[in-house]
Amino acid sequence: DESELICIGCGATLQSSDDTKAGFLPFSVLKNADESEDLYCKRCFRLRHYNEVQDVELTDDDFLNMLHEISNKQALVVNIVDIFDFNGSFISSIQRFAGKNPVILVGNKIDLLPKSLKEGKMRQWLTERAHEAGVHPKEVFLTSAMRSDSVEALMNLIEKERKGQDVYVVGTTNVGKSTLINQIIKLATNAEDIITTSYFPGTTLGKIEIPLDDERVLVDTPGIIQSSQIAHYLTPKELKQVTPRKEIKPKVYQLNVEQTLFLGGLARFDYIRGNGKQSFVCYLSNELNIHRTKLEKADELYAKQRGELLTPPYKDNLETFPELKRFEFNVKEPSDLVFSGLGWISIEDAGTTVAGWAPRGADISLRKSLI
Ligand code: GDP
Repeated sequence: DESELICIGCGATLQSSDDTKAGFLPFSVLKNADESEDLYCKRCFRLRHYNEVQDVELTDDDFLNMLHEISNKQALVVNIVDIFDFNGSFISSIQRFAGKNPVILVGNKIDLLPKSLKEGKMRQWLTERAHEAGVHPKEVFLTSAMRSDSVEALMNLIEKERKGQDVYVVGTTNVGKSTLINQIIKLATNAEDIITTSYFPGTTLGKIEIPLDDERVLVDTPGIIQSSQIAHYLTPKELKQVTPRKEIKPKVYQLNVEQTLFLGGLARFDYIRGNGKQSFVCYLSNELNIHRTKLEKADELYAKQRGELLTPPYKDNLETFPELKRFEFNVKEPSDLVFSGLGWISIEDAGTTVAGWAPRGADISLRKSLI
């Protein structure tokens, strides 16, 4: 079809190839459509009929333009990050763009943390990481978009900190921003009041505004794709499997020196040197298969069994899934080796040398043990 059809809600060109991008409409609808019809993209349709928001991706440039717009406003900036993917979801330029505006850093998915982890420690870790990146949030708050009481507590904080101003909620994709905004809609307003208004500069996306009082609004901004998020290398099915969905049940592995654990075929942990046999505790999705082998056999096993025994990635995704990159660490105190987007493995003994392998572009880091 040569003619371009436009969503009358947000103005985006309608397309049916990517449901994470602006203007998505299923092919079954689009193929029968003609120019005389009033067509809404899926996102605008859901907003109109169910008052439900869906996240849409922006390119880097559009995202920077959008943030720039925020720096010209007086507003409270609320940055949502995924506590299981801090490095993949943290926006390090946020302070620059917030300008003089205060920033609240919100760590989402707190319901997934094992009970043995004190929330205060997680909050402290987030605060330290933010400070390292030159970001000085007014508050660091933990929440679960799945729990209404948690979201209500966040709204109380926002109400206190916004000092009568508008609120901009920003985040990368997959942090749970739409889940959170949908909870906020349930709490904050009469459903009819939600509107899409003017476009963000450089984008075809209308802003979704939720009224907070007679004058002020909470703005849901589009999500930015950050290529360091492992989520971008996975099919929806794979993503479902590796993203923790329930409270994480720690799994203990007793490893000898020179043994390896494969986390599906997505990542790898090598115990290289240390004090003999020791326990490593894995905090990963309960559904992710962990496979143990000898270090000397690990490369060969991976080459042979990727997509077979070691999944995900599954066969249909092997070609695009990046190769694994190795990072070595000397552990000097009880620490967690964090595989961004997957979880972490904790190491008790000082004097242990380990290596973590992750898809090129995704991040691995060592932190002081949280538990
Ligand atoms: P968005 O791309 O930031 O809008 O993210 P979504 O709201 O679509 O959420 C991404 C995934 O995380 C979905 O599978 C959600 O069900 C899940 N999710 C979102 N918030 C939470 C949360 O607080 N806890 C848990 N366990 N999962 C969450």
